[in-house]
Amino acid sequence: MKRLKVIAASLIAILAVQCQKEDISEINIPKESVNDQISSEILFELDSMGFDISQEVKKIDGGYIIEKDIIITDEHIAESKNETTDGIAKQRRLQNIVSCDRARRITVRNRVDGINSRVREAINNWNAVNGTFLTFALVNGNADVNIVFTSRSPGAAILPRNGRAGREIQIDPGVYTGSGESNAVIQRTIRHAIRHELGHVAGLGHTNRNDLNSLPIDGTPNSDENSTMNSPSSITNAFRISRNNLSAQDGNAMRKLYGTFNRNNICR
Ligand SMILES: [Zn+2]
Repeated sequence: MKRLKVIAASLIAILAVQCQKEDISEINIPKESVNDQISSEILFELDSMGFDISQEVKKIDGGYIIEKDIIITDEHIAESKNETTDGIAKQRRLQNIVSCDRARRITVRNRVDGINSRVREAINNWNAVNGTFLTFALVNGNADVNIVFTSRSPGAAILPRNGRAGREIQIDPGVYTGSGESNAVIQRTIRHAIRHELGHVAGLGHTNRNDLNSLPIDGTPNSDENSTMNSPSSITNAFRISRNNLSAQDGNAMRKLYGTFNRNNICR
């Protein structure tokens, strides 16, 4: 019950994130952050649990305080890790997905400096999936989905609601560029992160986690270690899994939700 409460709190936190209206020319990757004392492993875990790690994360005895008043115990973090069944779970969909109508053209605006090409490539990857009518369109004006800079975020998404795509993707490219990996690997990983978050705003959950806000999609296999929708457990893991483009089963999952020739689409 305690766990349910914490997860409910995390969903609210995701939905309550303020849209950031920063001028792109003013965005710089900060050299320091309030969360420098917290290991990237923990930040990754909290992020994949759905918490807003752009806010201060405080270490306390036996856990962490985030978003000012939510206490996450060490036990809860350990429990959440146990939900990970790396590569042996089905593709999953979120409780709320995009309406069939709105999925036909989901507009995306990138407001983060230096990653335009990566965003375009990630969009092209999803648009290349055969047999689905869901498409993303990169635009400069008002968009359904805004990609915004959020300090120290390896990538996070607001989830779909009321038939609309999740309205925001948050990322700090500095999480990856500051790593010492080769530029090729860094760019590949940023593209992968955007691709993963686009999957979330379109209604896909984590393939490798039995998150409470998601449901397994019938007709996907019990194993897919190549899924773009696997949640990385660490930055090292993120660099590794970014080698994969969308897996065949990621495409299959999308067709179950928004299939051109599927009479039983999950979208309504
Ligand atoms: Zn994710």
